[in-house]
Amino acid sequence: MLDLKFGVGKLGQFGQSLAKRLEKLGIETIEDLIFYFPFRHEDFSQVLPIEKIIPGTVGTIKGRIELIKNWRSPRTRRMLTEALISDDSGSIKAIWFNQPYLTKVLTIGERVFLSGKVDFDYQALRFINPVYEVLRSDEEQGTHTARIVPIYSATESITQKQIRALTKMALKSVRLVEDWLPEGVKKEYHLMNLTTALEQIHFPADKENIKLAKHRLKFDELFLIQLQAKKMRKELEMSPAPKIVFREKETKEFVDSLPFRLTNAQRLTSWEILKDLDKGRPMNRLLEGDVGSGKTLVATIGALNTVLNGWQAVFMAPTEILARQHYNTLTRVLDKYPIKICLLTRSESRLKDDGLEFNDFERKELLKKISSGEAEIVIGTHALIQDKVKFKNIGLVIVDEQHRFGVAQRKALKEKNKESELVPHLLSMTATPIPRTLALAFYGDLDLSIIDEMPAGRKKIITRIVEPRNRKKTYEFIRKEIESGRQAMVICPLIDPSDKLGVKSVKNEFEKLSGQVFSDLKVGFIHGRLKAEEKEWTMREFAANKINILVATSVIEVGIDIQNATIMLIEGAERFGLAQLHQFRGRVGRGEYQSYCLLFTETGNEATGERLQALVESDNGFVLAEKDLEQRGQGEMYGRQQSGLPTLKIATLNDRAIIKEASAAAEKIISEDRELEKYPKLKAKLGEFLEVHLE
Ligand code: ADP
Ligand code: MG
Repeated sequence: MLDLKFGVGKLGQFGQSLAKRLEKLGIETIEDLIFYFPFRHEDFSQVLPIEKIIPGTVGTIKGRIELIKNWRSPRTRRMLTEALISDDSGSIKAIWFNQPYLTKVLTIGERVFLSGKVDFDYQALRFINPVYEVLRSDEEQGTHTARIVPIYSATESITQKQIRALTKMALKSVRLVEDWLPEGVKKEYHLMNLTTALEQIHFPADKENIKLAKHRLKFDELFLIQLQAKKMRKELEMSPAPKIVFREKETKEFVDSLPFRLTNAQRLTSWEILKDLDKGRPMNRLLEGDVGSGKTLVATIGALNTVLNGWQAVFMAPTEILARQHYNTLTRVLDKYPIKICLLTRSESRLKDDGLEFNDFERKELLKKISSGEAEIVIGTHALIQDKVKFKNIGLVIVDEQHRFGVAQRKALKEKNKESELVPHLLSMTATPIPRTLALAFYGDLDLSIIDEMPAGRKKIITRIVEPRNRKKTYEFIRKEIESGRQAMVICPLIDPSDKLGVKSVKNEFEKLSGQVFSDLKVGFIHGRLKAEEKEWTMREFAANKINILVATSVIEVGIDIQNATIMLIEGAERFGLAQLHQFRGRVGRGEYQSYCLLFTETGNEATGERLQALVESDNGFVLAEKDLEQRGQGEMYGRQQSGLPTLKIATLNDRAIIKEASAAAEKIISEDRELEKYPKLKAKLGEFLEVHLE
């Protein structure tokens, strides 16, 4: 029995090159193999006598190789391997394409299992590219055939058979995997043992066992997420936080000073936040609202009250450009207040003090003002956490578009306080519409405030699914918009051209648009593999209208406010989730001009059309996210990096019943034993889980 941490590279017969390829799948040890679950199974369990095989179906037989030979098809020039297999009931042909080595692997007289699709040739039945497995003895059980077979997501350089063989070997050590789930939980929710579940997920005895194994493994995943969320929540509930009392008069004045009326949703969410700030326990609230719904203003109301109570407010954005945008907004709306606001990023340090704006304030001095508490609202990127920046007393942290901002970061900020031991309040904001189910699954019972209403008077973005034959017209339309001063964005699913499927890539589209279609215009591109500075530079150029058309992958900034951009063209729209498409769309239509979202698809199929039609019809992100969740599950809903949500390995968000159970189980344990003292195995597991999942 091999140790769970034993490296696959050291498994004798496989060697280093395979180990390298496995690494690409994230598999390095025996344990990794055991936890590399198949994404589906194929049922080859019924072994039939050859005479019972039915054309048009998938079947498995056990027989003897009578003949095997290679030949080249004179018509297609393809290399074919043909074999004749027989058992007591009859014989059948098998044919494989482009695998001439098979005549070396399979020899006449050997006994084999064949599994696969059977069709009807001119004269007889035949297997097409069947999976084969040589039997050493008659009793031998199949690994790849004659059973329910696991199908893994593999790469081109590694085969299903290799993964299966390795997994089978690894599973010999499965008993070393500790079942950390408390017995009581297993009993209450009728869960399979972990060892059994792991064996059965790979090589199930029958279909019922697949179900039970999956149930257990899904439960595990969701349970750990819940457990952590609830533990954190309980810890927060016990920690003292700055008591920030609602300054009614000043808040009213502030709201009245705005050139517009707050929407009802803005009022409601502001109120939820203000109530939290007053509780003396750390707020942990997620503010959700579509791009342009006015979240910044709601956050500003929180920051204003924080400052008026004598505490500092910290406002963090994912990029420099967004940090500056927030700085501009806050200094503008708080113009009449004697509040000192500063911006501190890698390349900038600005200060607004008593109506005076210093756009290049000396960094050292600024750091002093921050640590003395003179700078009351500090805006920056996440670098604020790492830097040497010290604060006097942070009362409220506002985080824009980063969901993973968690316990550790909050703690880090708290430790930067010179004059406060209290845990700051946290308000995170996102434009990603996260349905409640999803929020529950990922964050336990994190408090949610939702802005589900846009400020009045916004122009509706016109959304259209464009037929391929109208591509030229579309480009002409874009040209007209640009000639009248507007800008366009083109989103592609990939960075590099792919030989498969002809999916549009940033590189190809950029070349095509800049070289041919719009060769007289300024075309730029941006994608995730560029350096941060390159991305920042490109976005700045675009914001300054020095780039007319920006070709991008989904990395394009979420919150970026470019009022001049009116066209969002999306290539391969079927490859994105509705929620994500909705977010792309939200990047235009932020100014006074009529804006457009134009969707091109690569597959003309009806289901795609119907799905995208939802986008044409609805401009509510939550409705679209729910729809996505129903139709495709979480995996595809949002671009991964963008949403920052942990990816589930086996559970899905459609497992609503299991989410509920896992939540109830976690709640029970945490409310009785927050530190998990009675559950040392569980405690250790949770620690390990956090290390892997929270980086
Ligand atoms: P978000 O961060 O939610 O994407 P912002 O807070 O950046 O949105 O707001 C987008 C724009 O809408 C800003 O220019 C802001 O001043 C404006 N705005 C905010 N609230 C309102 C409102 N109630 N009525 C009109 N305009 C508003
Ligand atoms: Mg924003």
